[in-house]
Amino acid sequence: MDKNNTHDKEKLDRQIRLEEIHLLYGGTPFSYTASVVIAFIIYGVLLDHADSPQYLNIWLLTILGVMVVRSVESYRFSKLNKEDKLKSSWRIRFFIGTAIAGTCWGLLPWLGYSSEVEYIAFIIVCQVGVIAGSLSTLSYRWETMVLFLVPSSFLLILRLLLDDQHFSDATTYVLCVFVFFSLSAGKRIFDNTQQNIRLRIEADNRERAIELLHQKQALHLQNTPLAIIEFDIDLNICEWNNAAETIFGYPHDEAIGENIMRLILLRNNSTNTDKLWQRLLNHEALIGETIENKTKSGKPIFCQWFITPLTDKHNAIVGIAAMALDITDKKHNEAVILKAKEEAEKANQAKSDFLSNMSHELRTPLNAILGFTQLLKYEKELSEKQHSHINEIDNAGNLLLELVNQILDLAKIEKGHLQLSIEKIAITDTLQACHAMVAPLAKQQNITLNFETTSTSYVLADHTRLKQVLLNLLSNAIKYNKYNGSVNVRAITKENGTVRIYVADTGKGISKELLPDIFQAFNRLDAANNIQGTGIGLSISKQLVTMMGGKIGVTSQKDEGSEFWIELPGHAELNTIIKSESHPITAKPIQNKTIASNYHILVAEDNPTNQTLILNQLEKLGYQADLVTNGQEALNMMANKNYHLLLTDCNMPLMDGYTLAKTIRESGNHKIPIIALTADAYPESKEKCLSAGMNEQIIKPFQLETLQETLESHLN
Ligand code: ADP
Repeated sequence: MDKNNTHDKEKLDRQIRLEEIHLLYGGTPFSYTASVVIAFIIYGVLLDHADSPQYLNIWLLTILGVMVVRSVESYRFSKLNKEDKLKSSWRIRFFIGTAIAGTCWGLLPWLGYSSEVEYIAFIIVCQVGVIAGSLSTLSYRWETMVLFLVPSSFLLILRLLLDDQHFSDATTYVLCVFVFFSLSAGKRIFDNTQQNIRLRIEADNRERAIELLHQKQALHLQNTPLAIIEFDIDLNICEWNNAAETIFGYPHDEAIGENIMRLILLRNNSTNTDKLWQRLLNHEALIGETIENKTKSGKPIFCQWFITPLTDKHNAIVGIAAMALDITDKKHNEAVILKAKEEAEKANQAKSDFLSNMSHELRTPLNAILGFTQLLKYEKELSEKQHSHINEIDNAGNLLLELVNQILDLAKIEKGHLQLSIEKIAITDTLQACHAMVAPLAKQQNITLNFETTSTSYVLADHTRLKQVLLNLLSNAIKYNKYNGSVNVRAITKENGTVRIYVADTGKGISKELLPDIFQAFNRLDAANNIQGTGIGLSISKQLVTMMGGKIGVTSQKDEGSEFWIELPGHAELNTIIKSESHPITAKPIQNKTIASNYHILVAEDNPTNQTLILNQLEKLGYQADLVTNGQEALNMMANKNYHLLLTDCNMPLMDGYTLAKTIRESGNHKIPIIALTADAYPESKEKCLSAGMNEQIIKPFQLETLQETLESHLN
């Protein structure tokens, strides 16, 4: 701000200086001509009366010479450019010329001296006249007046003082008074002139600035991509810029005087337009309102409008100023993007539906494969080779089940169906459980497991899902390790309370180029050939950790090993160290309780393979079972016989499992435990089973031990 002010002031001073020097040199043609004319008149009058005509000639020549030189100077000055005119040398030259001219006039009473009193008086009058006349042209600078007045009047007064025969001293005093008043009058004229120059320049500058502003605004209005339109209260257009011409297609002259409504595309929404006008009439500005318009050729376009009512001092609307931006392309692009988004969402939804349906459909045959495989394992008569083949089938079946489960998880996450129940979990407990589960796998490869949690804490997470993530990291650390390698697990609590769990291995590591893709689904990097896996585990882990409000990451060194970590929100409340090496943790053995062969179980199942399987499984566990193929048959059977438990499939012809359970409960039988056997692994399906009146749900495929535990828990 200060810098701007200083700059403005400097500019103004320069302008004033330029104006002064112009005025000084500009007045010279008139004053020099007047001086030459007066000099000739004086010469003519004094020629016959001067005491020395030669001196008078010298005076005339001197004064003419000075005037010629000064005229040449003035001419040269007029030809200069602005910058050169401002040079101080031209000011000094003018001052010197003025002082010389003043001296020349002061020499008149000396060189043109006459003994006759009336000619002396003539000289005095001329001198006084010249001095008075000079005031008008020299008063633009105070210094020039002094430089002219002082030598001319001083030499005159000196001559009068020396001449004691013609005039009294009073004349000299009067002349002194005249000089004094001339100087003070000159000073006042100078001050006023200065003030006038300043005011005029300031006014000029202001006027120029306003003019410039108007020009800029006009340029702006004409060149802006916004249509700028003004219309009166009768809605007739009175302003129309270039952009308005381009957007709406009406040339300026055609648009002026037209009704603004010609630009509005009236479909069925004329009431909307009425509402907009109503808002304007209520002095409300319309900011960014999108209106469907039409061009001169009738083409519909979309414009975004900014409309403001213009009011007079009594707040009455006198017109309306509007700006419009053509957003047709933007609107079309938005529509295209929206359509593409909807299609992508539909495709994604179809993919998720397909994945979850597929995983559901795969469960039923898998149930048979894994179930019969497990039953075969109990056969004593089979050879070792046959047992080894059964193990192969079991392994492959379990891998397939893992894939199906993971695909289902992925589909659940993508559909937003995965519900987490976040709770406070002690890291040590979870790690212990995981340790027990992966220990047998580690043993196969002679891998040492080192679990160390120095700042054992509580984290906020979903218990099952946290375990799933940790198991995935641990099983990878074992799978992709070398024989005799080790896996180190540690947890640390950070200052902000979050807990970071590291799982480090001594495996083959992951190359830098492959690292960025590691969390992508179905990306097996370079492990696809020799190590079993699905390529989904890490992708699911990442999504689960993110859903739990945490982060996951990895650092790896090729041929040295990898370190995966997860970070979860938590509270440091516990501090213990687990050394799993010294206190090996083993999996909880499945209870082998005595089978109550006097329990009668009714099985409702429509799929023939699953019928055979469940009957065989129940027989293996020692239960007595009857089979029906749908709900209606089950009701009939129950009417004739008392059963201790009902195992029912959910989807069956005639009457499904849900209706069956509902009917039983509605008939007043709340005693019999009803267990659902279903391939539907969604949480909603469990809710559906429970709300139909069932006690529990077993998801196919299931282990014999799971069936045993569930039955025992309900029968006891
Ligand atoms: P999967 O192990 O079933 O293939 P994941 O999603 O768990 O699927 O892992 C993706 C890929 O990341 C693996 O196929 C493997 O190439 C690589 N990977 C994962 N963990 C490790 C590890 N600890 N060391 C080396 N490579 C790993």
